[in-house]
Amino acid sequence: SDFTQLGLIPELLETLKLLSYTKPTAIQSHIIPAVLDGKDVLGGAKTGSGKTAAFALPIIQKLAKASPRKAGGNFVSCLVLVPTRELAQQVADSFMRYSQLIKPNLKTLAVYGGVSTNVQMQSLRGGADIVVATPGRLIDLISSNALKLDNTTTLVLDEADRMLSLGFTEELNELLAKLPKTKQTLLFSATFPEEVRELTDSLLNNPVEVQL
Ligand code: AMP
Repeated sequence: SDFTQLGLIPELLETLKLLSYTKPTAIQSHIIPAVLDGKDVLGGAKTGSGKTAAFALPIIQKLAKASPRKAGGNFVSCLVLVPTRELAQQVADSFMRYSQLIKPNLKTLAVYGGVSTNVQMQSLRGGADIVVATPGRLIDLISSNALKLDNTTTLVLDEADRMLSLGFTEELNELLAKLPKTKQTLLFSATFPEEVRELTDSLLNNPVEVQL
């Protein structure tokens, strides 16, 4: 298939040209139309499958078309939860790369532990369109009112199996309880042990399943 058949807007097709992405990967062909259609997604995919673009491109498109973020409340439209700070930075960089031609600019932030909380709190002033976060630091920032999840419309759990095996189950449940009940959720995992199954069952609403 071809990127032009997936329902992407011209700005994103132009960006893909700039990046020399000539053909969508299998996961991209399946997931991009499903996300644009508002569906929940369950993806069995490893790094290298092109899964980051598979979720970032349609999310960027939806945010670009949505009305601007409500001001004054440190709201976040799209929350991406990841297990490690390296992945947080990498996924945030991907969102920035894929949204480079989108106007007005989407505000994307990576939020993770091990660096100054103050700097992150400053960056979060006025909220953000996309926050890519590790669970622990995100909870700290919510506790200090630096960020609110009340208006979040899209949730992505990336590398869900690693997130749980690294011991983030409690943090994850705490965060899920703070998110609105009605939202679009995408979950990616390389493996599906019992703990991940339970999470997908409780979290996803009639998901489109893509196993690679
Ligand atoms: P990911 O699995 O999303 O981490 O992507 C793995 C690598 O493949 C990244 O370096 C992407 O920039 C690249 N990539 C993703 N999708 C495509 C595509 N359709 N064509 C060429 N490269 C791609």
